[in-house]
Amino acid sequence: VRVESFGTYACRATIGTATTRLSGHAIANAVDIGGFILADGRRVTVLADWNGPDPAVREFLRVVHASACKRFGTVLSPDYNAAHRNHFHL
Ligand SMILES: [Zn+2]
Repeated sequence: VRVESFGTYACRATIGTATTRLSGHAIANAVDIGGFILADGRRVTVLADWNGPDPAVREFLRVVHASACKRFGTVLSPDYNAAHRNHFHL
């Protein structure tokens, strides 16, 4: 029922990579998603649940990630690097 965002626009280079190119955030072409509030009130976060103890919740996040890959040109997760341990970058 709700998506928790870490924001969109930030004029900066990419973080956690060796390159110095501008981030998609530098041109407001990216959003960072940290969590979701489910209809039953549960809060699922990338930080706590990407590798969390509940397999159904882990699967939920992987389905969201895979779905985002069908819709966005760039999708980064905790598997990309430590800078993305707590959010999906879309
Ligand atoms: Zn981002």
